[in-house]
Amino acid sequence: MSDEIVGIDLGTTNSLIGVMEAGFPILLADGNGHRLTASVVYFPETGETVVGAVANRMRVLDPAATVYSAKRLIGLRGDDLAAEETRADYHIVRQARQPLRIQVRERQLAPEEIATAILAKLKRDAEAALERTVSRAVITVPAYFNDAQRNATKAAGEAAGFIVERIINEPTAAALAYGLDKLKSKAKIAVYDLGGGTFDISILELNDGVFQVLATSGNTHLGGDDIDAALVSECQLPLANWQKRELVTEAKHRLSSEDFVRIDAPFVEGKNFTYGLKRIELEGLAQPIIQRTRAHCLRALADAKLTASDLDEVILVGGMTRMPLVRQFVAELFGRDPNTSQNPDEAVALGATIQAGILSGAIRDVVLLDVTPLSLGIETFGGLMNVIIPRNSTIPIKAGEMFTTAVNQQRAMKIKVLQGERELAADNWSLGEFELGFPPAPKGVARVGVQFAIDADGILQVLARDTQTGAEKILSLTSAVDVSDEAVEAMIADSLEHAFEDMSERVWTETRLKSEEMLRAVEQAFAQLADDFAAGERARIESKAADVRAALATHETARLKAANRALDDATQELAAFIVEQAMQQTRG
Ligand code: AMP
Repeated sequence: MSDEIVGIDLGTTNSLIGVMEAGFPILLADGNGHRLTASVVYFPETGETVVGAVANRMRVLDPAATVYSAKRLIGLRGDDLAAEETRADYHIVRQARQPLRIQVRERQLAPEEIATAILAKLKRDAEAALERTVSRAVITVPAYFNDAQRNATKAAGEAAGFIVERIINEPTAAALAYGLDKLKSKAKIAVYDLGGGTFDISILELNDGVFQVLATSGNTHLGGDDIDAALVSECQLPLANWQKRELVTEAKHRLSSEDFVRIDAPFVEGKNFTYGLKRIELEGLAQPIIQRTRAHCLRALADAKLTASDLDEVILVGGMTRMPLVRQFVAELFGRDPNTSQNPDEAVALGATIQAGILSGAIRDVVLLDVTPLSLGIETFGGLMNVIIPRNSTIPIKAGEMFTTAVNQQRAMKIKVLQGERELAADNWSLGEFELGFPPAPKGVARVGVQFAIDADGILQVLARDTQTGAEKILSLTSAVDVSDEAVEAMIADSLEHAFEDMSERVWTETRLKSEEMLRAVEQAFAQLADDFAAGERARIESKAADVRAALATHETARLKAANRALDDATQELAAFIVEQAMQQTRG
């Protein structure tokens, strides 16, 4: 038996199947090139049952024999649903304490038989696309499904010829597809799923790669279909209902990227009918429908004992979330922009496929983790490299440090971004630089926070912020992680070869900076104190300062260190004298 496992999104409206190919989750298309299979089964008078797009078209022509949205019925008994929830164009047999059945012609079908027909078609299509048999599967279900519903789904998979390796929650699959398990070790995530017929909101908690559902809420009769119905009654088109529906749905999709569309009705009674529709008009109709998701979101947050600000991510699932108004609504409700990095109608299937890959061993953690090949940092005083993210750190990663000014009245700080293992800035590679301005102040007063953040795609963002004014600048760099192996090897070899001189150079530079600072301080003190200070003392200090200047010219670290120490000792009395003077002034 092959190790391969497929991932399946068994949806209310559409279903998808995928497989790991060369380390990537790939969704498979049917013979017509479609990856979405309508979750609709048609039972003709004679001959084989029909599944998918062709069956979907039969909803108009033979509604009593065409079963759609059977997922709403799976694993339920007569008392589990209210009468109005079992209203459909086909006949649902509902008896207390008995499993729900679907009556088609003379046959009574269990809802899982519909699921089996859909899963069997997905299996056939996948095998045709891959040119090999597939037998193991991961299937997704809504997070709120109870044991009976999960077991019925599993049974449907087995009847379709699969070994069902795992049943996983749809929001968990979506979070996997968004790569959220890799972003952080701990996170709280909202999954907002607005599809054609159903709405689900789930709050998940991620803990070291394991997702837990904290709360769910939703409505199994709320979705894009309601918007389509509102549009049909708004646009007075002289057409059959199914034709109107097709036209307005297409217009709705186009209005997600355009502001205005023209609906061209086919030639009717010798007339061409066109109808103009603005995005804003669609939004007016959709607004009250989208608003109905609000209470569910608030409820789920309350059940999870969280507020919107506790969330680390809000992700979107379901075709309807392509609509800009939905995204805007979600952004306002949760107080943050939703993550739109994935295709919302494919995220669940991709996540199921990723889970399948994890189970089969096609995905191993080591493959996905990336590290920084070389250290990253900025240049500081004296031309030294200040490492912020050390080499071999796992990405994504964030790190930062606070810097200040070395010169009085400095008006800007230059942030020079460096990569490499050498102690001196000049020996490392420069990735880019920028300047952050701030109000002039005595040295050491300005506080500039510098933060390095590398995301999962290896993009480095360097942010510098003046903590006093809040002014900030950001530099985005793509080359921080993508370095050729040879270049990395050469850099590391160089740093080892020059380790000793590099280190001595760093110590020399640090000592030199200290000398310069002390000399400046002594000069300043003498300029202020003038003649008040004992002349003998002054001469002693000046001779030590001269020693420091002489040592500076030699480039001998030990000598300079000794001279620094001597000057430091000599100035003890001067320092005491300055303090005494200052106190006298305040007393006077
Ligand atoms: P799903 O159940 O996730 O397949 O979502 C299907 C719903 O998404 C249907 O109501 C579609 O009309 C809607 N939909 C798909 N694509 C778009 C789009 N580009 N803009 C707006 N709605 C869309």
